[in-house]
Amino acid sequence: MTVELVKHSASDTDVLWAARVSTAGEQSLEEVGTDPERSAGLINYLMRDRHGSPFEHTSMTFFVSAPIFVFREFHRHRVWSYNEESGRYRELQPVFYIPGAGRRLVQEGKPGRYVFTEGTPEQHRLVEQTMAESYRHSYAAYQEMLEAGIAREVARAVLPVGLFSSMYATCNARALMHFLSLRTKSEDAAVPSFPQREIEMVAERMEVVWAELMPLTHAAFVANGRVAP
Ligand SMILES: Cc1cc2nc3c(=O)[nH]c(=O)nc-3n(C[C@H](O)[C@H](O)[C@H](O)COP(=O)(O)OP(=O)(O)OC[C@H]3O[C@@H](n4cnc5c(N)ncnc54)[C@H](O)[C@@H]3O)c2cc1C
Repeated sequence: MTVELVKHSASDTDVLWAARVSTAGEQSLEEVGTDPERSAGLINYLMRDRHGSPFEHTSMTFFVSAPIFVFREFHRHRVWSYNEESGRYRELQPVFYIPGAGRRLVQEGKPGRYVFTEGTPEQHRLVEQTMAESYRHSYAAYQEMLEAGIAREVARAVLPVGLFSSMYATCNARALMHFLSLRTKSEDAAVPSFPQREIEMVAERMEVVWAELMPLTHAAFVANGRVAP
């Protein structure tokens, strides 16, 4: 899977000037960077008391390449903006997801609180072989229909959700924190979530990039139980 930050306008100072307009009006821009300790304190206060709107004055655009089943979960997050490659306008390429050796395969426990345990070598082999065979079969059916003159938008119906797609996804820091709170599993979380591992892998990479852009905001997010303000 690929996660790349392609453009951004996102820093802790974006949060600070937006918040300080409350008390400093148009002077708020001049106060940015004058007192780092006060700045960290203000961001922490905003996070703790869930004053969320100052975190919205930021923008990050990611290029993501991941299986369609990850995108289906991703696109439930409505306050992001998306543009995805089209199965109507281009021929889809045969790039499919096969879980890596480290992917825990066996699901145990109750819905919403599943625990995943290691698969046996036989189970790993089964997953790899069955998926590869099924993908080959589906893609051959897709190709057969395209070669017979069937429209891409019709032929694509046989392709599985393990097929890779790509998109640009744009969000602000508040939306990203909401996404991270739901799509990562962390011991720091005040409200634990149990996301599918594959979308969590995407979320984890986004978090690393975001933490570099907005270290004070990221630290406050973690310190306040990974709850989006
Ligand atoms: C572990 C996990 C399991 C899930 N399982 C399922 C499942 O089995 N079936 C399923 O269908 N979905 C499932 N989902 C998806 C889930 O129901 C949400 O659609 C998804 O997490 C997006 O969250 P959201 O709506 O808060 O986010 P966003 O759409 O990004 O919205 C952000 C926030 O904006 C506000 N908001 C946005 N739109 C509205 C609106 N129309 N009305 C009021 N407030 C709004 C809300 O405060 C919301 O939290 C699951 C999600 C997770 C994390």
